[in-house]
Amino acid sequence: MLQVEQLDAHYGLFQALFGVSLRVEPGQTLALIGSNGAGKTTLLRTLAGALSARPDSICLDGQDISVGHELDRLRQGIALVPEGRRLFPSLTVREHLALAQRNGRPGAWTPERVLDEMPVLRDLLARPATAMSGGQQQLVAIARALLCNPRYLLCDEVSLGLSPLAVEEVYRLLRQASQSGMALVLVEQNVRRALNASDRYVCLQKGRVVLEGESLQANHHDVAAAYFGVE
Ligand code: ATP
Repeated sequence: MLQVEQLDAHYGLFQALFGVSLRVEPGQTLALIGSNGAGKTTLLRTLAGALSARPDSICLDGQDISVGHELDRLRQGIALVPEGRRLFPSLTVREHLALAQRNGRPGAWTPERVLDEMPVLRDLLARPATAMSGGQQQLVAIARALLCNPRYLLCDEVSLGLSPLAVEEVYRLLRQASQSGMALVLVEQNVRRALNASDRYVCLQKGRVVLEGESLQANHHDVAAAYFGVE
């Protein structure tokens, strides 16, 4: 289980997260909901080791993993699909996949499987990231994370700016990942989609958890109130 206990995060003197606690069970999908600036990206980046955390604030299967960098987290089984994809502009799809395989863990998600699941990438293997559509780039960003064979996949706004068809494709892939036993943490600006795709949800407001529960039982009025900060 991935467990977050009283997590704070800072950018210099600015505090972005205040005592956030939550847990993600293996194989479960958790949606993180909140308006712009609520701290969702900060939380994902802290879990992924891109921002530092106080000791004993992030535990994986009872072991403290708070102190460590992104490569450590990849090897522990936590991978991030970052907001805006962050591909290397000059690297081809093939090079992105090779790099991911080297940094991650061995497992069921091999390049062959990834290409079987995303056949469109087969024709683009030699293409640099910049010469692809947004939807195709997002597939590469997800493929790269899947190739690390994480147990916990953190997805930051993976549908942002994509066509409806591309969004469908991205969510189909995430369902595949979930069905293969991967736990997902989804940051998704479409609250309905976030709740439909998740088992549990956590609402963040100004860096604090203000509401959480089972997604099926979510009261959309309460979630909207938490999202918009209505008292
Ligand atoms: P969005 O939907 O806009 O991405 P978010 O919920 O992901 O919002 P964060 O990006 O985590 O929110 O931002 C949380 C707070 O931290 C905001 O007040 C933001 O201005 C601040 N912040 C984020 N990144 C930095 C940074 N690099 N330096 C300083 N402050 C930052």
